[in-house]
Amino acid sequence: MGSLSDNFRSIKPYVPGEQPRDTERIKLNTNENPYPPTPMTARELGRLDPSAFNLYPDPEASELTEAIAAYHGLQPENVFAGVGSDDVLANCFMAFFNSGRPILFPDITYAFYEVWADLFKIKYEKVPLDGELRIVKDDYLRENGGIIFPNPNAPTGICMGLDDIRAIAEYNSDVVVIVDEAYIDFGGETALELLKEYGNLIITRTFSKSRSMAGMRIGYALAGEELILQLKKIKNSYNSYTMSSAAIKLGAAAMADEEYFRSTIEKIKRTRESAAQRLRELGFHLTNSESNFLFASHKKISAKKIFEELKKRRIYVRYFDKPRIDNYIRITVGTDAEMDALIDALTRILEDEK
Ligand code: PMP
Repeated sequence: MGSLSDNFRSIKPYVPGEQPRDTERIKLNTNENPYPPTPMTARELGRLDPSAFNLYPDPEASELTEAIAAYHGLQPENVFAGVGSDDVLANCFMAFFNSGRPILFPDITYAFYEVWADLFKIKYEKVPLDGELRIVKDDYLRENGGIIFPNPNAPTGICMGLDDIRAIAEYNSDVVVIVDEAYIDFGGETALELLKEYGNLIITRTFSKSRSMAGMRIGYALAGEELILQLKKIKNSYNSYTMSSAAIKLGAAAMADEEYFRSTIEKIKRTRESAAQRLRELGFHLTNSESNFLFASHKKISAKKIFEELKKRRIYVRYFDKPRIDNYIRITVGTDAEMDALIDALTRILEDEK
């Protein structure tokens, strides 16, 4: 007889950043937005009728997908919504990476890609970034079973130009190419205009970062109708009612406040640039991040030590104990006051090292 555990799937799960319960802390570890969402969401929340919670939500999330489509100048048939972009991306992996040929993604990127590939038994090759941690377009111009990368990449924050993305989509017309634009609102060029030209292209987006709604879990994919239909087919083979009726309503409301959205992004970009400058003055090396986080290393003190010292001071950043990036910390851009506290703490930590 075997043992019970012989039946279990062996998988190394994705490890999300810590969500400390402590309220007296500065949380710069999971790339959340430090500002609240548009007041439109509070208004919509007040209008929610709990007596309607007895009903299942609209499985198509039509109110939300229509709002997203209108915002991007597309049709609802070009939009697939899900419970955060993680849900959308997992559906993409299930729907599109089935050729048996290995899919390609960068060696340093969003760690969940590898986990989904393992979970769904998809073969993959990790394509090394260059010496300056940039994605090399030419490395993706070869036979493969599909491609995924974030733009800007995470955790480097470095953007890829539209011409390079076009070249990848063009060369790989027989496979699905996913551009994960989780952070695109903070910098870089969106691949949206390529959707019309390339039926093999998918763009994914999230409400978790630029729209300050990580807690509501809303993400979406934009693509030609054929790919969206495939995504719906997979979702409806697994879990039809993914999004709550509250998330559908609040998400649709959030799409309507462009002015608030733009001003929040501008604040974060300003804070990012001033914090980057001050970190450089402290002797940090930074990648050219166009995202809502900075990726920093220091010659004199290891990233692991900095991470631990900051944590003692209840400042949470992210540290990845992985080859090539184990001497970097990833710092989410918070408010100006949070970044001031971070810089003060780092100044002291560096002084103590002397
Ligand atoms: N893509 C990338 C590159 C990310 O960093 C994240 C955030 N962890 C996600 C997707 C998923 O975000 P969410 O599920 O909150 O939309």
